[in-house]
Amino acid sequence: MPYQWPEDTDFAYWELDVLDRDCPHCGRMMHICDHRYRRFHTLEGPVEMVCRLNHCPDRSCPGHAKTKSPEVESMIAPPFWAIGWDVFCWIGHRRFSRHMSVTYIQSELLDGFGIKLSHDAVSLYIERYQLMLAARQQDLQLLREAYAGVEEIILSIDGLQPEKGHETLYVVRELTQKRVWFAESLLSGAAAEVQRLIVRAKELAEQLGKKVVLWMSDKQDAFLTSIAAEFPDVPHRYCANHFLRDVAKPVMERDSHAKVQMRRKVRGLRNVEQTVLKRRRTATQAASPVPMAAAIEPPHASSSGSITADTTKAQSPMDSADDPGGDIVLDYCAAVRGILNDDQGGPLDPPGLRMATALEEVQESLQRNLNAKKGGPQKRNSVDCPSVSSGDSSMSAPNKKRSTNISRTSRTSLRHSNQKTPDGKNGKRSLEP
Ligand SMILES: [Zn+2]
Repeated sequence: MPYQWPEDTDFAYWELDVLDRDCPHCGRMMHICDHRYRRFHTLEGPVEMVCRLNHCPDRSCPGHAKTKSPEVESMIAPPFWAIGWDVFCWIGHRRFSRHMSVTYIQSELLDGFGIKLSHDAVSLYIERYQLMLAARQQDLQLLREAYAGVEEIILSIDGLQPEKGHETLYVVRELTQKRVWFAESLLSGAAAEVQRLIVRAKELAEQLGKKVVLWMSDKQDAFLTSIAAEFPDVPHRYCANHFLRDVAKPVMERDSHAKVQMRRKVRGLRNVEQTVLKRRRTATQAASPVPMAAAIEPPHASSSGSITADTTKAQSPMDSADDPGGDIVLDYCAAVRGILNDDQGGPLDPPGLRMATALEEVQESLQRNLNAKKGGPQKRNSVDCPSVSSGDSSMSAPNKKRSTNISRTSRTSLRHSNQKTPDGKNGKRSLEP
């Protein structure tokens, strides 16, 4: 559909002439026979261009039946387009270098340059830009220039799926010059299909006259067989990225197994917590026979902050100020629970290793408490609690930086996760008394 220009568009007026006016057939000076008017957008504004068309005046000359357009025309705007090359390049650059969406490009053109293009039109120009770019990148002459100073080349192939369930895009790259040689979508990763790509790469290398010294890939079967068939003497190595990813798999499996073992050993948290809470309930009942509900102030009488405090009070019968020891036990339980539920970390920072380090820290902290209790004065409020069996900590590797991080996380999670303890008063308290 031709571009619809608004009535009040203010066009710049350009006139173009044929520069070489000699008839290509008889050499006679050609005459102007017609005019072509066209309108298009440039980044400087809309343009109305008049092209003066020439032909040979001699009716018997073959040059009479043909018209010649001004040579410069196609350098300003391709035939029938509603935009000039400058707008076209702007669109392509924003799409492929800045990764802007079509909608975003559309609105930027309108806001920045007053150029109104439909979504379809922008998509179409992007498609054409892509074609031109691919043609230029695969142009043998340009490739020869790029590889003029290169003796040996390294090729790689990989398949990627831009969208799940869609066909896989196979990309062949040359690694010394970091150039994509070509890419092709294949419906199947069958060896015969893949081999076609390897053959194409081989032909291109031969056309350039360069020796392929190495192939790199993730070594999937189709790559292995096709490359072995076409490049029998060229080594084929694992790509470092794929190699690490494949090594990480068994590491993570072992780590996950270790986590299960630790969780199996560190048990009985609920029992410990219930013992503390039960002891508090008993103490409260002994101190005040008034039912808890009566002690809670009506909500309108207090600010939202004190409502929270009252609610917490209702949940935890005995004020934690009377039982700091119990708080500490509950904090320890929350910390250990946080450690056992922590699934963060990848192959380079395995969660099981983090868990082991953190548990070891808790164990050391408990030990310090026990040592202090043995040596120091007896605390009136210290709590007797059933012993928590702890995991074997021999598997953790000492890593000072990491353990400090974990200890901070577990303490934070403990403060936030333990609903039963009002943390207003105890927020800054350390785990160890
Ligand atoms: Zn002529």
